[in-house]
Amino acid sequence: GDKKRVLNFSPGPAKIPEEVLLQAQKELLNYRGQGLGVMEMSHRSKEFEEIIAGAEKSVRDLLHVPDNYKVLFLQGGGAGQFASVPLNLMQSGSADYLVSGSWSAAAAKEAEKYGNVSLVVPKPSKFVTIPDQSTWKLNDKADYFYYCGNETVHGVEFQGVPDIPSHIPIVADISSSLMSQNVDVGKYGLLFGGAQKNIGPAGVTLVVVRDDLLGHARKECPSVWDYKVQSANTSLYNTPPCFNVYITALILQWIQKNGGLDAMEALSRQKSGLIYDVIDKSNGFYSSPVDRKYRSRMNIPFRIGTGEEQDQLETEFLAEAKKHRMLQLKGHRSVGGMRASLYNAVTVAETQLLADLMKEFQDRKTD
Ligand code: PLP
Repeated sequence: GDKKRVLNFSPGPAKIPEEVLLQAQKELLNYRGQGLGVMEMSHRSKEFEEIIAGAEKSVRDLLHVPDNYKVLFLQGGGAGQFASVPLNLMQSGSADYLVSGSWSAAAAKEAEKYGNVSLVVPKPSKFVTIPDQSTWKLNDKADYFYYCGNETVHGVEFQGVPDIPSHIPIVADISSSLMSQNVDVGKYGLLFGGAQKNIGPAGVTLVVVRDDLLGHARKECPSVWDYKVQSANTSLYNTPPCFNVYITALILQWIQKNGGLDAMEALSRQKSGLIYDVIDKSNGFYSSPVDRKYRSRMNIPFRIGTGEEQDQLETEFLAEAKKHRMLQLKGHRSVGGMRASLYNAVTVAETQLLADLMKEFQDRKTD
């Protein structure tokens, strides 16, 4: 059974729902009477084609993807898309980037290899908020506008859709908020995300792209990352990570069975609310650096104590958490402190246990 499983608060690769793992375990040696597992199966087989078509259908149903958008399952991760986006979309050689954390900063840096990148707001010394849109300097001739929907390291989540002139396609990295809320796909030119947080194992990258943006790739764009090539081949231009696509398909079905994106969004608010509530009621024992308006539902960075005590308290808290089999609560090395990641597969009950431990730890340290 799952008795020995830990409470996994990892920023990714993240927890996968137990029932998905159990089904995969059951089908590992023999997928539906085929006498072999998905890892050993031809990607041209009818069985695998059904798996990837099923995954696409789930994405279309969950996100209500309009018909004029392509759904692709690619390799190379989120970071691959940092290059793939400019390679496919930077036709005239310039793009606007909103840098709100380390992932959008990395994307902007990668895009600079291919053209002129202009930052719509100057890079701040600390990523704790998103400057008001009235202060953004937009280039009317940009090939696209790029931002990150949820900054996984800094816990800064954009709210809504940026207000950009409609002739400029909006590109969003939604790696760490993928399938955790409804998205108005029609407002975007392109959305992408690595699977390894909310929808699967690493190795699969979901891209949803409006079809008029296909066919303009620069000549140096690798074929495997050319959206038009992959779309013409239903993501099977070359051998895909078959097993990972299969797990992703199962997780998408799990999301559908569990109430779809309305439910995932409500749960994410409930779970993150439990932790933010402990932080906010702790009289400063716990603190969140992020502007309330932009607090992430998925990744919650926090500090414990202040000044000289901080290091000691945080080390103790991590050790304490580990005793309760709660893992991966250490913040990213670039920001320090703690970070709790609460993706779709993390349950309310697990989150409540973390909240309880935080309260109990504070009580013990402050009486
Ligand atoms: N974008 C975001 C928001 C991320 O959180 C990450 C990884 O954590 C990446 C991009 C990079 O993804 P990958 O490691 O799949 O290349």
